[in-house]
Amino acid sequence: MYDLCEIMLRVKHYTIPIFIPELACPFQCVFCNQKKISGQTHIPTGDEITKTIDSHLRTFRRKNKNVEVGFFGGSFTGIPIDEQKQYLKYVQPYIRLEKVQSIRLSTRPDYITEEILLMLKKYNVTTIELGAQSFDDEVLKTTRRGHSSHDIVVASELILKHGFNLGLQMMVGLPGDTLEKSINTAKRIIESGAHNTRIYPSLVIKDTLMHNWYNDGKYKPLSLSEAASWCKIILPMFEQAGIDVLRVGLHPSEGLTSGDDLIDGPFHSSFKELVLTEIWADILKQATENIKEEKLEIRVNPKEINYAIGYKSKNKNELLSKFRYVMFITDESIAGRGIKIH
Ligand code: SF4
Repeated sequence: MYDLCEIMLRVKHYTIPIFIPELACPFQCVFCNQKKISGQTHIPTGDEITKTIDSHLRTFRRKNKNVEVGFFGGSFTGIPIDEQKQYLKYVQPYIRLEKVQSIRLSTRPDYITEEILLMLKKYNVTTIELGAQSFDDEVLKTTRRGHSSHDIVVASELILKHGFNLGLQMMVGLPGDTLEKSINTAKRIIESGAHNTRIYPSLVIKDTLMHNWYNDGKYKPLSLSEAASWCKIILPMFEQAGIDVLRVGLHPSEGLTSGDDLIDGPFHSSFKELVLTEIWADILKQATENIKEEKLEIRVNPKEINYAIGYKSKNKNELLSKFRYVMFITDESIAGRGIKIH
């Protein structure tokens, strides 16, 4: 149990997201319709950015906090450098007043240069996330990313050399992808020294080239259970390497949840929970396979209990098909995904 002082001292981290959809992006990756994925089509003005920051700041209650502004969406460093500076300038007064501590942004690996990094440093950018998507050159070529795995390595080295936090995002189930290729991508992300990552299952989004391929029978997305079973291997790889996994599965924008923009693919608003359920299904299977008693008392860390029981009690119900009585109990003395069974 944390005592009250410890809770007060812990720093709460907030990110204020500002979406800049497909701003000047000359590429058309086969899976991308940035407007549909982010659910936003409008490019925000300076006034709107200020209002967004102010309204988020008003909702942050904790005194001990760390606030960053994140420019997400298109390829930030691909827009003309004066426009990049203009966007960054809107945030500087908040940094001077110590209301915001830093800025993060997402971009492409081939839009990183020494000159850009020096400029970003000056404007208090601390984290740069690259859409790596895959380290397999065939997959990058098929999906028309317009850069190679070598470009990801070079950009990552440059970002780390200049002292930024590095994020490398990956996608699973792209055209030409396999489980082995995705595992290798995760390994290469770890080797590249990334501090954080996001794992996105590939979806068929309306009005993308992949949508045409899907209609022509040239592309078949992973099923939901396939995507969860790939990610149950990849997620622990990052955890064991100490890499922060910021997201597993796309953020549920209105178009995705209503189904208007989503044609097919492994989308689920609780995708990470499905993955964690699968991870726990394996742990429970292994831990209970030689148990002959009819009653099970399973102790797990409180943070893990929901995933151990499983999404919609999937794991508990599975155990109840073999054991007459199954009880899950929280136990603070158990670390991580440890388990004790009586
Ligand atoms: S580079 Fe990014 S924004 Fe541009 S098409 Fe590809 S995924 Fe979309």
